[in-house]
Amino acid sequence: MSDDFSSCLRDIPDFPSPGIIFKDISPLLANPQKFTEVIDAMAKIIEDQSIDFLLGIDSRGFIFASALAQKLKIGMVMARKPGKLPGEVVSQSYDLEYGSATLEIQKDAFEAGDRILVIDDVLATGGTARAASDLVEKMGAHTAGYLFFVELEFLNGRQVLNADSVNSLVKF
Ligand code: IMP
Repeated sequence: MSDDFSSCLRDIPDFPSPGIIFKDISPLLANPQKFTEVIDAMAKIIEDQSIDFLLGIDSRGFIFASALAQKLKIGMVMARKPGKLPGEVVSQSYDLEYGSATLEIQKDAFEAGDRILVIDDVLATGGTARAASDLVEKMGAHTAGYLFFVELEFLNGRQVLNADSVNSLVKF
């Protein structure tokens, strides 16, 4: 299964900076049959969990989260880069290898106690997904789990994540 889906990715060397091999999901998105299979496989993982909202991470996480939201009839919330969301927001900054980044969620997105599933295309070091989860907890909701299309296991990202349920379809 994993081998099958890995054929829908391509490596782009030295992007976005020298020495990084970027996993590009464009071939998957261009293949409606494979994209449907991926969304079906991700939906199967979520099915048994009791989830109130899917939280998609800016920007490729939106692609997976919105397809899953429609298939599973679960609401979707966006975790966005700063300055993109209208109205009052809650912010969380996190460290990158060089510098830092911030994610924001609209203040009224969740009710206290809501169970949230964090979704993104790729889990690398885990900093981004963890920041999204920290936002969820800041708002009084609960991170029930994480779901990724790709996991770069050699970066040990799941070690910084704070939920029992961490799933991915393709592991490198
Ligand atoms: P992390 O915070 O180091 O886990 O990086 C994850 C974030 O960077 C996610 O939002 C991904 O979309 C993006 N990212 C990191 N590496 C890749 C890659 O190889 N392909 C696509 N996105 C990546």
